[in-house]
Amino acid sequence: MKYTKDFALKLLRSEGQALINLYREADAVRCKNMGDEIFIRGIVEFSNICINNCLYCGIRASNKNVQRYSMTVEEIMETALSMEQNNLSTIVLQSGEVPDIRDGEIGEIIRMIKKETSLAVTISVGNRTREIYRYWRDCGMDRYFLRFETSDSELFSRLHPGSTLEERLTCLNDLHDLGIQTGSGFMIGLPGETFDILAGNILLCREFDLDMIGIGPYIPHPDTPLSGSVNAYKDDPDIFFKALSVLRIFNPESHIPATTAFDAVFPGEGRTLALQRGANIFMPNTTPVRYRKEYLLYPGKPGVDEEPDQCLDSAIARITSLGRSIGKGPGHSIKRRGQAAEGSRG
Ligand code: SAM
Repeated sequence: MKYTKDFALKLLRSEGQALINLYREADAVRCKNMGDEIFIRGIVEFSNICINNCLYCGIRASNKNVQRYSMTVEEIMETALSMEQNNLSTIVLQSGEVPDIRDGEIGEIIRMIKKETSLAVTISVGNRTREIYRYWRDCGMDRYFLRFETSDSELFSRLHPGSTLEERLTCLNDLHDLGIQTGSGFMIGLPGETFDILAGNILLCREFDLDMIGIGPYIPHPDTPLSGSVNAYKDDPDIFFKALSVLRIFNPESHIPATTAFDAVFPGEGRTLALQRGANIFMPNTTPVRYRKEYLLYPGKPGVDEEPDQCLDSAIARITSLGRSIGKGPGHSIKRRGQAAEGSRG
């Protein structure tokens, strides 16, 4: 029964005492495998320019209500240096998807950050070729984050015009093959998602043996074609935490962040509860405040007006209030990751 779809579905349907037990079990699995440390990774949303038109996303190319920006190399370096001064150990550089134009520059930024700071570098800028991933790895990139969004190929194609799930999974295979710590994940409750698909999402994370898994509720954005499409579990918000807990039980050794979208749905407590129900990573927003309000993937994103220092302080306060400690060092994957064993995975 362990790690089967039926088992995942059974856990996802937990209610009453069984639900309390599910949360406890997920917390115990997290504690046993990942310890009590919570690693903090600062996220820098360095550009909202995107060529894609994902039906759910607030920074989709066709949204004319967004003021487009792209941080300069100097601004990114300034941010990285201040993160190091604030004792952060990982910078996550995220942006919309624009292949080619800045790929060389991203490589140079990785090199500079690795040369001038001791930060681990995670990049999250969408689908690329294996050659680009290899180039960024050779520049010093430690990790890559690319959600598969949904494991249902038909739903994926409907939500991502001109793109397929197969292409996304090829990217994940390439990253894994190149020995890069690979993160992926999905949104919970996309319009059209069923319980069966949700369980499939969790199983796909396990199949890919991911180093990091980020999941969060889908939240309708008013300036997208899905503005009128509510979350598939609108009337059952417990499901977001259930999914997180089942994910932890199925992936005992993966880093799992308490993602910002949990706070958007449960203001002030979503991420705290996530940390008590399986998560072990916190990702405060370290984007300069002047850019924050233009990176609204969904409405209700917390901390839009907070200075990076304030975001970090409130992250630390949350973690200590839980009696947990701040992770020391880069918090790399605890899974075996041979050095760039290219081609080792089918
Ligand atoms: N371009 C990169 C990529 O596609 O991986 C990184 C940026 S992308 C905007 C970051 C993530 O935001 C997506 O993977 C998606 O899961 C999430 N996202 C976008 N719109 C959302 C929404 N309406 N509700 C919840 N999450 C959303």
